[in-house]
This record gives sequence, C-alpha cells and structure tokens, in this order.
Amino acid sequence: MPILRRALPGFTCGVLCGILLAGGFGSISIGLAVGAVLGTAYGLALPLPTRDAGVPADRAMTAAAFGLPIWGALNVILLPLLAGQMPQWTAKGMRGLFPALVGWLLFGFALGLLTTGAMRLAERLFGVTPAPPEPVSPEVKTRVVILGGGFAGVSTAINLEKEFRDDPSVAFTLVSETNALLFTPMLAEVAASTLEPTHISTPLRSTLHRTRVVRAQVAGIDLENRRVKLSDREETLPYDHLVLALGAVSSLPPGDGIAEHVLEFKTLADAIRIRNHVIDVFDHADAELNPARRRALLTFVVAGGGFSGAELVGALNDFARGMLADYPNLSADDLRIVLVHSRERILPELSASLAHYALERMRARGVTFELNARVSAARPGVAVLQRMELEKTDATKKPKPVQVEIPTETLVWAAGVAPSPLLKELAVERDKRGTVLLENTLAVRGHTGLLGAG
Ligand SMILES: Cc1cc2nc3c(=O)[nH]c(=O)nc-3n(C[C@H](O)[C@H](O)[C@H](O)COP(=O)(O)OP(=O)(O)OC[C@H]3O[C@@H](n4cnc5c(N)ncnc54)[C@H](O)[C@@H]3O)c2cc1C
Repeated sequence: MPILRRALPGFTCGVLCGILLAGGFGSISIGLAVGAVLGTAYGLALPLPTRDAGVPADRAMTAAAFGLPIWGALNVILLPLLAGQMPQWTAKGMRGLFPALVGWLLFGFALGLLTTGAMRLAERLFGVTPAPPEPVSPEVKTRVVILGGGFAGVSTAINLEKEFRDDPSVAFTLVSETNALLFTPMLAEVAASTLEPTHISTPLRSTLHRTRVVRAQVAGIDLENRRVKLSDREETLPYDHLVLALGAVSSLPPGDGIAEHVLEFKTLADAIRIRNHVIDVFDHADAELNPARRRALLTFVVAGGGFSGAELVGALNDFARGMLADYPNLSADDLRIVLVHSRERILPELSASLAHYALERMRARGVTFELNARVSAARPGVAVLQRMELEKTDATKKPKPVQVEIPTETLVWAAGVAPSPLLKELAVERDKRGTVLLENTLAVRGHTGLLGAG
C-alpha cells in the first residue's frame, strides 16, 4: 500500500520528534499528538526518496525552515488567542517564546532527517515504491514532445506555451540530457575562466511553465508507433507531434588519433574541462625543469577558425597570459597559443575586413595563426598539422603538403559539427551531411506530425 508506506514512517518519526515540541505546548501528550499529525502529513507530502547523498540534509533543512512560520502562527498568535490573551508579538513576548521556536526548528530538522532515513530503510527492506503514473489530464487530446533543450527546443516550447496558453487540451514535454539552456556564444568565457558556468545557463524548469521537462537521454525514436525511447528509463513517451531539436555533435575525423586526443568544445562540461586542464598544465609546467617539456605544456592548439574556435583562442590567450602573473617561474616566451584553420582567412562567417581585423588584433595580443593548415593527426603530446602551403620539392616541381608536428598537451577541437547521430537511425530524407530535410513549415518531408528545428 503506497500510502501506508509513506504515512507510517512519517507518523512514527513525527511521534518521536514530537518530544521536542513538548516544551512549547507545556504538555508531552499534546507535543506527541501534534508531532504525529505533522509527521503523517509530512510523510504523505514528501516526494519519493532519492538515492542522492545530499537529500537527507536538504530535506532536514527545508523542514526546519517551516518551523519558523508554524511557531509564529501557533505559539505567537493562535495559542495566546485561544487562552484569551493578546498575541505575543512584542519583543518581550517573543523572547519568552524563544525556547518554543528552538523546539520547532529542531523538530523540523529531526523530522526531515528521520523520515527520509526511514523511507530509505523501508525501500531497502520492502523494495522501491513504484512511482505513481504521470497524471494525465483527461482534457489532453494532443501531445507534443520536443527533443533537445537547446536554443531551438526551448524556443519551440516557449512559443507553443504562448500559442496554446488557453488550450489545456495540448500537453508539452521537452526531453533534454542537461537541465539548463546553455548560452553557447559565451562558452569561451567559461573555458577562459572569466565567467562562471551559472552565468551562461538558465534552468529549463524555471524557463518553461507548462512544459513537462524530462531530463534524460533520448535513446531512439519509433516513428511507426510514435514513441520516444529514453536511456535508463522504462518509460517511453508517446506523442502526436514530435519536434527534433537535438542539435549537433563535434565532427571528429575517425582514425589518426584525433578523436582520442582532442578536447571537445561544445558543451558546458567541455568548457569546464578545458578551464581545469589549462590550470592543470600551468601547474605541471611550473614544476617542469626540462625547457622543451615546459614549452609543450604551455602550448595550446585550437583547431578551427570559425566563430567558436576564434573566440576560444582569443579567450584562452588572455587567460593564459593573465595567469603568468601567478607563475613567476614561467616566462611569456614559453607560451604559445595557436589557431589552426584550413582556409586562407579565419571567421568565414564575417566579412573579409572584419575577419582580418580580428586576426590582427589577436596576433598583436600573442596568438599564432596556422592558416591553410589542418590538424591531420594527434598523438599523446603531439598535434600533427598538414600545411597546405605547398613545397616545391623536386625537379618535376610537383608540390606536396608539408607535415608539421607541434608538441602540445592541449589540442581543442572546434573544427566543425555533424548532426545528432540519433537522426541517422531515422527513416527520413537527409542531405549528404546527414541533416534532416525539412519543408518550409519545418515539417519533415513525408512524415505527418514530425518537425525539425535547430
Ligand atoms: C562555443 C560555441 C559558440 C557559439 N557561438 C555562436 C554565436 O556567437 N552565434 C550563433 O548564432 N551561434 C553560435 N553557436 C552555435 C549555436 O550554439 C548553435 O547554432 C545552436 O546552439 C543550435 O541550437 P540547437 O537547439 O539546434 O542545438 P543545441 O543548442 O546544441 O541544443 C541541442 C540540445 O539537445 C540536447 N541533446 C542532444 N542529444 C540529446 C539526446 N540524445 N538526448 C537528450 N538531449 C539531447 C543537448 O544537450 C542540447 O541541449 C556557437 C556554438 C558553440 C559550440
């Protein structure tokens, strides 16, 4: 009986903790009775226990926080009124009731801690309580499921919420493997430690008000039966309309060690990893006596001169040069920040003059550019470049690309993206890059109720 499984631990813990209320009520039996009622209600209201280590402390603090308003309402106002007195809300009156306040705070804290512990014990002894089925409003006639919590997915949800504000017959669900919307244009600042991760991420649940947010990885899409499969969950999500907004992944060339040795630069976790790695190599370089090794540790190579690579290399350059002030053993001469780009000019998204300006500004600040070059392979401690600047090698004057090795412990990949691999499994029309082809209405060709964005 799920209700009993929740009420019983709450009742028992409430009675035990009720001793702490005895002083405030001037009677043990009233304290125990109030404790029993509040404990039972608390047990029933409590979400199912989770396995996270911080949950008991979190719940104990939350329950303790409830002690203050209950004390105010009951001990300060209600009990004096029932006794035919004025509420005790003068400083003197409240001071007199201070022990009761302490009792309430301790009661809340102990109740939160014990009830969570008791529920976990019950789970261990009798097995996990099955989660109640998702309440589905009988009014819901259309289910819209959005896959992906990036710009496209979240904008879709926000706009649909607005559009169907007065229509409860449409239900929205958004599935995302992260619980926050990431503002990617400022990801470089996180990698370079000028912004904190929270500055560029907005929780999905506080942004979306009518949309059910499911934090999970999409494992597959069953177009025929109109269901979405999730990793690590039994639950599958049925839909009437499905929006594919899964974004892209780094496009890493297979073989030649690139996929194994690069740091990606796509997600918040990637940016944090890069920042920590940079700090790490500085610390190693500080202790390194071999000058060649030290230079390799202080060489940072970014592959890809589009927006994200160019922003990252500029930010890393400032970060690394700024850090030198904290490492008096290290010299700016050992520092090398390299941007490798396969074309003649960086930032193809911008006009030539603007791209040139950006390059000159970064060059003046110490960035080295390897243009007409691409990272062709990587090994531990080495990035291999192929320069397209052609060398005339022999009498036939047949030009050959030049191979250059850069000793480095840091190779970041910002050289292109590919569509989400999940889309490969769908029987839909795609272009040769694998991007799903859409109509002008964002509908996927030939599939009713299937849309794409991003
Ligand atoms: C460093 C960087 C800087 C950029 N700077 C700019 C800029 O200045 N200007 C600009 O216009 N664009 C910029 N972009 C590009 C921009 O971020 C993308 O164009 C945009 O994010 C695409 O939006 P989207 O919603 O399609 O995909 P995304 O924003 O990538 O969102 C996809 C979402 O789907 C989720 N997801 C993916 N697979 C699964 C799965 N299997 N299960 C569950 N969830 C999944 C992801 O976690 C993510 O939340 C930048 C990108 C990067 C990486």
